[in-house]
Amino acid sequence: MIKLQNLRKDYVVNKKAVTALKRIDITIEQGEIFGVIGHSGAGKSTLIRCINLLERPTQGSVIIDGVDLTTLSKRELQKARQDIGMIFQHFNLISSSTIFENVAFPLRLAKKSKAEVDSRVNELLKLVGLSEHAKKYPSQLSGGQKQRVGIARALANDPKVLLCDEATSALDPMTTQSILRLLADINRKTGITIILITHEMQVIQEICDRVAVIDNGEIVEAGKVAEVFLRP
Ligand code: ADP
Ligand code: ADP
Repeated sequence: MIKLQNLRKDYVVNKKAVTALKRIDITIEQGEIFGVIGHSGAGKSTLIRCINLLERPTQGSVIIDGVDLTTLSKRELQKARQDIGMIFQHFNLISSSTIFENVAFPLRLAKKSKAEVDSRVNELLKLVGLSEHAKKYPSQLSGGQKQRVGIARALANDPKVLLCDEATSALDPMTTQSILRLLADINRKTGITIILITHEMQVIQEICDRVAVIDNGEIVEAGKVAEVFLRP
């Protein structure tokens, strides 16, 4: 279970504090697909980056399975981050490395043996349907295929949570569908909790169980997707 408690984030711009998030209280259940929707500048990226402490909240707690990540030492946080995978709008693949090596990267960081790396990468490439492409480079793949690599890499260390930062925003509608289906499939098979941010209503309606609407740094509405979007 993930609990964001009274989260606030101020950025300092020209010596002045700019509030990007305030009074954020969200509880996300294990195994849930939870969406956060809002306009550009609403605070979505800041919110998702606070969950793995890529951004350090100015105030409040990020509690994952009872542990408040904001209280951890650098070392402890590094370890805790292995339980949190992330995928990005622009995939963030290493262009000079093969698909295999991109997926292997977090496993090598976690000091897995060569045999473990080989078997896990092959398993992950199979899961995302890219076994045939292991030796290619990112530039040889389509956008949807690149995001599949991103997903495989994010899942490498078998995280409990997958954070998706506008993960389909660079993709056409058909490819978006196939990536969302893959995410839903992985959620069903593994029980992984998925948190995604998007500015697209369809993405939320397609796969989310619950949604929070963020505006100007605050949650203005939250609940089951059908309920939130049917309210007058
Ligand atoms: P969204 O992802 O919904 O577009 P962001 O979280 O990127 O929103 O931004 C929320 C607010 O915080 C915006 O006003 C943005 O300009 C500001 N902001 C985001 N990142 C930074 C930063 N690194 N430094 C200063 N201000 C930032
Ligand atoms: P996106 O909305 O796709 O996340 P942005 O262009 O909003 O992309 O942000 C790209 C990067 O710039 C992010 O790391 C964000 O934190 C940072 N950023 C966004 N707004 C500002 C800002 N006003 N000042 C400084 N950095 C910002």
